[in-house]
Amino acid sequence: MRRAAPHLDAFHGRHAPSWYADSLNDTLDFPALAAQTLDTDVCVVGGGLTGLSTALELAEQGVRVVLLEGALIGFGASGRNGGQVLHGFACPTSRLARQLGAAGAQRCWELSLEGVAALKARVARYAIDCDLRWGYVTVAENPRQLRALQDWRATLLRLGYRHTQLLTGAALSEEIDSPAYIGGLHDSGCGSLHPLRYTRGLARAAAGLGAQLFERTRVARIVEQAGRATVHTADGGTVHADRLVLACNVDVAALRPGLAQRFLTVASHIIATEPLPVALRARLLPREAAICDSRHVLNYYRLSSDGRLLFGGRLKRQHADQAAIRAERQAEMARVFPALADVAIDYSWGGYIDMGLNKVPQFGRHSPRILYAQGFAGHGVALTGLAGQLMARAIVEDDAGFELLTRLKAPSVPLAGIADAALIRLGVAFYRLCDRLGW
Ligand SMILES: Cc1cc2nc3c(=O)[nH]c(=O)nc-3n(C[C@H](O)[C@H](O)[C@H](O)COP(=O)(O)OP(=O)(O)OC[C@H]3O[C@@H](n4cnc5c(N)ncnc54)[C@H](O)[C@@H]3O)c2cc1C
Repeated sequence: MRRAAPHLDAFHGRHAPSWYADSLNDTLDFPALAAQTLDTDVCVVGGGLTGLSTALELAEQGVRVVLLEGALIGFGASGRNGGQVLHGFACPTSRLARQLGAAGAQRCWELSLEGVAALKARVARYAIDCDLRWGYVTVAENPRQLRALQDWRATLLRLGYRHTQLLTGAALSEEIDSPAYIGGLHDSGCGSLHPLRYTRGLARAAAGLGAQLFERTRVARIVEQAGRATVHTADGGTVHADRLVLACNVDVAALRPGLAQRFLTVASHIIATEPLPVALRARLLPREAAICDSRHVLNYYRLSSDGRLLFGGRLKRQHADQAAIRAERQAEMARVFPALADVAIDYSWGGYIDMGLNKVPQFGRHSPRILYAQGFAGHGVALTGLAGQLMARAIVEDDAGFELLTRLKAPSVPLAGIADAALIRLGVAFYRLCDRLGW
């Protein structure tokens, strides 16, 4: 029985309806591979940020690369996410240190900063018009959360990072006007962008350097034989390659079920308001910082370039009841910003996150010829760019960064793909209770 591909199985010829899809600024259109046969150095499966970053890095180094995307470039999480550009990893640094030692954890931190720097450099080098801006505040609702932010700042200082500032009172009001928070941590090294424009900008750049990109080309089967990998598409196309990169995120289960045993597939959801009056948005988010709260089941939000509030969060197994999801997001947004209780919601969309139980990113070699990177757990906008850089380097020559990250271990999820719904329901209920109790 073929395993489910949560994003791809929901592809009906167009991008998932979202504010991002409606505010695209390109007319990129790549062909389907159809029944052709190609020969290449590297075949990348998946046209999200992981796959495109890899393809771009390889093309920059003159490597022949073919990228196959089953839907459209950016159709998956990369074109639907909150657009928050973050350093670090989804898991705490202490967890990295337990697995890799203090020096390994320090190197992971530095690599994550390289991921953010690579994103910034790509936007500049390829003139990608994706509303990239800097400024990010993690907000605290109670003294325990504020202490956690203070501890995080101390950890960052120990790591040598000096771009944060604690905010309370008037300093907090200069960033956000909400009765929900007592403090925050401002970080000038994180920010936000329009993720679908960024993703497609990478595609344009890679294609410009000679990478061959195909859309509407779903990979059905991968065979390794005689020192090469052969990729068969659902429509009769074939690609022979020396190396293969799996950048399929939650949809990897359909190709290599073993890789999907390492994460839960979790749905996250975003609503976009109508454009807000200038004076109102200047009051609510005066400096237009991207915001994330400190809850276990967190809310993340920011203003769009046309003045909407994009308000995301909520974890579930599936995007089943759209009306209920939208109502829940709207109520949560009104709790944070009572002034928005009656604004119209113009868009509501969701996507799936690959969340390992310990939230460490998962890098590795599935076989000597097949590399993969997954498990970014809602923290992938910049890290996927790093993943592409490291995988490309590991293909062209050995790469110490890639090897280091392959040493991070993610436990298997018991009954993954079978009992995800029950596990997620239990986990979310537990964390919601912690949030309610202020733990
Ligand atoms: C709602 C939401 C909000 C998020 N917010 C943030 C955020 O604010 N900041 C942050 O850092 N991260 C965030 N994330 C996480 C981030 O979006 C992901 O970590 C990142 O986009 C993963 O990129 P990817 O390329 O690995 O996967 P994807 O973008 O999902 O790309 C995988 C691609 O592979 C294709 N594919 C799969 N199987 C096949 C196949 N068999 N054949 C051909 N093609 C195939 C899919 O169609 C898809 O396009 C969020 C995620 C979601 C869903």
